[in-house]
Amino acid sequence: MRLSTERLSLSYNGRDAVHEVTLDLESGELIAIVGPNGSGKTTLLRGLSRLLRPVAGHVLLDGDDIRAISSRSVARRLAVLPQEHPEGVDITVHELVWRGRAPHQGILQRATPADHEAVDWALEAADVHHIASRPLGSLSGGERQRAWIALALAQQPRVLLLDEPTSFLDVQHQVEVMALLTRLNAEGMTIIVVVHDLALAGRFMQRVIGMRDGRIAFDGPSREVLRPEPLEEVFGVPMLVLEDPESGLPVPLPRHPEGAAGP
Ligand code: ADP
Repeated sequence: MRLSTERLSLSYNGRDAVHEVTLDLESGELIAIVGPNGSGKTTLLRGLSRLLRPVAGHVLLDGDDIRAISSRSVARRLAVLPQEHPEGVDITVHELVWRGRAPHQGILQRATPADHEAVDWALEAADVHHIASRPLGSLSGGERQRAWIALALAQQPRVLLLDEPTSFLDVQHQVEVMALLTRLNAEGMTIIVVVHDLALAGRFMQRVIGMRDGRIAFDGPSREVLRPEPLEEVFGVPMLVLEDPESGLPVPLPRHPEGAAGP
């Protein structure tokens, strides 16, 4: 499933937050979007997932304008994990994940074996099967995040968009979420994820897109774009990029603003 944009502009109150972005997100890619706060990452995800109407340009899902496809049909192919989840949802993990089947179910249709299978798979993949009967309010931040990921997976999407899924997680859960995305990608899912942690992007992502001021500043294989110059241009701070001695992968770090001395 190919997702692309043609000179896509998205705005709030007449001001462009994403400006004439043209992108090709090919089937089976694992892509990170990075950039400073306010650079348009979340807005781009909203545009890609049909939540925001373009002021100019198009989003194409397998060549069809996403606005011409019904929202149910989009939801069967593409799932989004937003940055913030509604508070105070007083349901169990199991109930939450079942909601992911809505796009696949008829209004009066009873759950099919395929629905049960999808829910079981999603609970298992996101590693929340053992807490499936717990209410969301009783979970830790990491567990709750994985429950929302399971909801998105129950849609059995071909394309998964995630907005900072690791932000509030400890290192172990960050790595678990990234490993899960890698696994899903290996099974064929196209994954686009907004990440703040550049070291995580370097370790897990094949392609990294850098945004600044609503535009694409760089886009390419992580080894090629996670270099000091492109990162400095996007983030506006001096950067150092080390090479992981085990994998050779890039490990970007901000330089100390006072020079090499450090604390
Ligand atoms: P990022 O995800 O990179 O932090 P956003 O896409 O959230 O950036 O924001 C891009 C720009 O759009 C910012 O200038 C932000 O203030 C503005 N913006 C985002 N959401 C809204 C909104 N709901 N109403 C008005 N302006 C918004």
